[in-house]
Amino acid sequence: MEKQKNLRIIPLGGLGEVGRNMTLLEFKGRILICDMGLRFPEEDMLGIDCLIPNIGYLKGKEKNILGIVFTHGHYDHIGAIPYLIGKIGNPKMFASSLTKGIILKRQEEFPNQPKLNIETVKSGDKIQLGSFKIELFRQNHNIPGNLGFFIETPVGNIINTSDFKFDSNPVNDLPTDFKKLKALAKRKILLLMSDSTGAEEEGHSLSEKTIEQNLEEIFKHSPGRIIAATFASLINRIQQMIVLSEKYNRKVLIEGYSMKNNVEIARNLAYLKVKKGTLIKDKELANYPDSKLTILCTGAQGEGRAVLMRIINREHRLIHFKRGDSVVLSSSVIPGNERTVQILKDGILRQKAKVFHYKMMDIHAGGHAQKEELKEILRIIKPKFFLPIHGQYSMLVSHAELAKETGVPEKNIVVVENGRIINLSQKRIFIENRTAPSNYIMVDGLGIGDVGEIVLRDRQMLARDGMFVIVALIDRQTGKVKGSPDIISRGFVYLRESKELLRDTRKKVIEIVNQATGSGRTVNWSYIKDEIRNKIGQFLFSKTQRRPMILPVVIEV
Ligand SMILES: [Zn+2]
Repeated sequence: MEKQKNLRIIPLGGLGEVGRNMTLLEFKGRILICDMGLRFPEEDMLGIDCLIPNIGYLKGKEKNILGIVFTHGHYDHIGAIPYLIGKIGNPKMFASSLTKGIILKRQEEFPNQPKLNIETVKSGDKIQLGSFKIELFRQNHNIPGNLGFFIETPVGNIINTSDFKFDSNPVNDLPTDFKKLKALAKRKILLLMSDSTGAEEEGHSLSEKTIEQNLEEIFKHSPGRIIAATFASLINRIQQMIVLSEKYNRKVLIEGYSMKNNVEIARNLAYLKVKKGTLIKDKELANYPDSKLTILCTGAQGEGRAVLMRIINREHRLIHFKRGDSVVLSSSVIPGNERTVQILKDGILRQKAKVFHYKMMDIHAGGHAQKEELKEILRIIKPKFFLPIHGQYSMLVSHAELAKETGVPEKNIVVVENGRIINLSQKRIFIENRTAPSNYIMVDGLGIGDVGEIVLRDRQMLARDGMFVIVALIDRQTGKVKGSPDIISRGFVYLRESKELLRDTRKKVIEIVNQATGSGRTVNWSYIKDEIRNKIGQFLFSKTQRRPMILPVVIEV
């Protein structure tokens, strides 16, 4: 085992979100893993299902992994398990009962996986893993069962906040336990690792109580059905809708595979309270007047396959919008989704239903602490060193500023990117020169990491200007093109209306080939293909200003 005096901290993950998906803590070669999540791809990553952390650093160290501790059940913290767990020797995991329920349910979608070994833990529990002693404490977020970590290590005590916000009036959860936080702070915190997602937002995050009051106004005044869309993982928002529906004598139909699953898991574990008879099946819809119905569904971001979009497109087998419906979009708009959410709103309004969204009133609160809360936890914990995590670079920098404002010296704060190796001792914190592999891994269907930059660039090219296949038969004896080359094209031009272009292209192909094979030279087939690709590419661009992917197929006959 290596003689390591400092503790190493290595954040991993995708697309700049530092350590959101996974963080490694290493001491004397023994490694503790926090979370194992995924990230959803950007719009231009065509066909990619998700991005998972690069675990190259763990290669050859699988036996030294002590275990994995999970903060909460959001996919960006648990979603990479099915792709990675088998590769690192299926180590023991620790999670709250709800997080465990969500992990196990998802695992069912991956039948060829090893059986997971997950121990259920709760706030107040202590886990000893090698020289790490982890104490779990409750944190408010927008999913129940969220745990922060107090970690005793040989170099000093560390707090990892998890995703969190301070909510003094939460719904379906207890308020933040400030007494507990203060008690932890008394034990001298060497390093605070804190959630930076809201570090650019002024003030304090909204309390779930405020959200509930605003939602209640909608329930009070809606004459017809209430159709509320939110994220399937927002168990607390789902609970609010159920409580209000019960108060206003409405039956509730849950629509959407992931939401149904989460409701079932949360209900079985008593994280979600539903009175008997509140939930109905879809075939019972017709038994109740519109004023007695709430439909909870997925798709507030305009996700193509989610329930809300299917209703708008009149593809839903049972539900269609009509006058009198109140549609509640209870989620903020994830950057990049603005346009689809606009399509959503317009579509609902065209079908004469009413729309309520977060810009009109506070019917959604994020799950993350904002500036005032972040400063508050810094003041309570008073860490010697500070490491902002979970956020894009600008958020980390903003969070570092907040730490300075509360009195952490600048030299004691490190802002890093994924793959940087942080060294921590009682006296100092610094970043190593070497890095851990940190380029994210793309998952497409069953393939993990086999889609790289080149495949992705091809997909982007195909999406932009389509493809253009040229099939030329070449006479082996004469080196001349036989007959007229065939052209197949998709997504480039409509062939039937481009006869002239095609005729000119065929002529050009014949010229190129005949020139290259003329005067009895030995024929270099790959040279001919390159010539066709380049020259026809230039030709088509000059005629159309488009650059389709050109695939020359040359067959000797
Ligand atoms: Zn979260």
